[in-house]
Amino acid sequence: MVCVRLSVTGRRVCVMDTAPEPSAAPAPTAARPASLSPSRAADFMQCPLLYRFRVIDKLPEKPSAAATRGTVVHSVLERLFDAPAAERTAPRAKGLVPGEWERLLGSKPELAELFLREDGSQDADRLATWLADAERLVERWFTLEDPTRLEPAERELFVETVLDSGLKLRGIVDRVDVTPSGDVRIVDYKTGKAPAPRYRETPLFQMMFYALVMWRLKGRMPRRLQLVYLGSGDVLTYDPVEAELLAVERKLRALWEAISLATDTGDWRPRPTKLCGWCDHQALCPEFGGTPPPYPLPVPAPRTAPDDGPAAPAGEAQGRMDAV
Ligand code: SF4
Repeated sequence: MVCVRLSVTGRRVCVMDTAPEPSAAPAPTAARPASLSPSRAADFMQCPLLYRFRVIDKLPEKPSAAATRGTVVHSVLERLFDAPAAERTAPRAKGLVPGEWERLLGSKPELAELFLREDGSQDADRLATWLADAERLVERWFTLEDPTRLEPAERELFVETVLDSGLKLRGIVDRVDVTPSGDVRIVDYKTGKAPAPRYRETPLFQMMFYALVMWRLKGRMPRRLQLVYLGSGDVLTYDPVEAELLAVERKLRALWEAISLATDTGDWRPRPTKLCGWCDHQALCPEFGGTPPPYPLPVPAPRTAPDDGPAAPAGEAQGRMDAV
């Protein structure tokens, strides 16, 4: 066990100094996808093979320091609202960071490996820097919103609905605010920087996805979608209209049809982009000389009848979709 004392809060934070033994739990059983979340929809639009690796093969991925920090920051911003409004201050919020990290580490001991040196010893400096970065992100939130004036209707809200088409949509909304007149605002925290305008389609798609689910669940369209970028200190808002949400519903239906077709045929094509640099599965990807593991779901035997029509052009069967 190695401990560091945080410069900001003065609190001691400890982690195990060796990574836990790999779990001997059996590999998860492959199953057909049964629902769609914004993250997995984005995966399929980015690269169908990446979707397969994550959803069907359920391949493990290395923990990421940035994603783990995001989880801790989200927990802090949620828990802060447990306190009375006047006590929701920046020092209090920063003081929650070490405890939320320890709580997360308790449920996922494998995260300790984020702060190990190559020789297996604990890198206390890296842990201290990482915690300080999380505290800075939490502190920046207070320059963007005033939690003493907010009373969220919901925090970390799990939402799920089934569309008329039978498609099940699900996800977790960071915060829902409701005005006295009933107007709904959906808020999502991002610990990264706000993207340039030409790259805003993906986060907007995620927000429209949540807006559609909330609309179907509550029968009232959210009035505003709000993205809070703690990395750069930006707040982006968007007020959706009915026609846009209906268009999102149509796109999700088409996306699900493409996923179902790929599931049935086992035809999951890689789609290389510069995001491949962040993919954990390059060693199994044909674009990088790898071979995917055997497809774990049943696929129909190939048909050889002479009256088979010509094969669909590459890309057509995969149902390429553009982000909203
Ligand atoms: S390396 Fe790129 S192309 Fe290959 S599976 Fe990952 S994201 Fe897809």
